[in-house]
Amino acid sequence: MTDPLESIPDPTLRERLQRLREQVGQIKTSRELQEEVPGFRGQKGIYKPAGSKYALWVRQTFRGPYADENPRILPDGSWVYPYAPEARGGRPDLELDTNAALLRCRDDGVPVGVFRQSPEAREGVSYEIMGLAYVEDFDGTHFRLRGEPIDWEEGFRAKASSVPFEPFERNPRILAPQLREQRDQRFRWAVRMAYHDRCSLCELGYRIRGVPLAVEAAHVIPVERRGTSRDIRNGILLCRNHHALFDELTWTFDERLRVVVAPDTNFRESAAQNCILKWEGKRLPNLPDSPEDLPGEEAIRFRMEQFESQWR
Ligand SMILES: [Zn+2]
Repeated sequence: MTDPLESIPDPTLRERLQRLREQVGQIKTSRELQEEVPGFRGQKGIYKPAGSKYALWVRQTFRGPYADENPRILPDGSWVYPYAPEARGGRPDLELDTNAALLRCRDDGVPVGVFRQSPEAREGVSYEIMGLAYVEDFDGTHFRLRGEPIDWEEGFRAKASSVPFEPFERNPRILAPQLREQRDQRFRWAVRMAYHDRCSLCELGYRIRGVPLAVEAAHVIPVERRGTSRDIRNGILLCRNHHALFDELTWTFDERLRVVVAPDTNFRESAAQNCILKWEGKRLPNLPDSPEDLPGEEAIRFRMEQFESQWR
């Protein structure tokens, strides 16, 4: 259980990568990034600092071939994203300095920062900071990037794509507050991506200047009950209203993801005017693309037991 960045000998590189990791999920303008990130002003695709063997970051823009593809999210919060190598004369040329630097990252297991142009215009061009990714492979046409999981110290327990679901934190490990905050931040971001930034129940999703607003990643098994923050199968994205109502156990969902509303008469009267009853018995309308990212059965059952004992 160690941070993989600690094995990088160059302290400057380590520090820069650490900084990119801490900003997971943030959306920043090109201008802001030019001030903060080395090379962002001049370099477009892959940036290799002068004198370094490794690339420091890559940026996906709308001109790139995969710009409109969403990264595929895995349950541990890691993601897979194709990245096109730089070309010379219209064909990928791995001899180019930048491509060679990415291959070296692959060979030595050194991650790169990843930026993705945000479709929401915010004072011109803006980018989402996707944190760090490992170059897993080059398949002849593109590099396959694999984003760090929520819990990077687990060091890719998810090399394989299916990871057993552990709904509870094992002996709640003592985490430094800063580390806990970082992990929560990554959990929130991964759940947001999996649910396309929209409430799973009412499908509302607001954005202001490209930044999502008023949607929140809820834990199916609450953190106070040792529910995990390391796996998005213990998460669901809800708008603030539906999150508050979920926390009060006024509604939940069953193992087929159908909405169950509390039998409380008073609540049902008030809920009737606020639309929640129209989803009763129906499957949650906004869910992750991949079935493996859906809320885990153990988590759903735990929640249902809480719900039932509340209304017994
Ligand atoms: Zn909602």
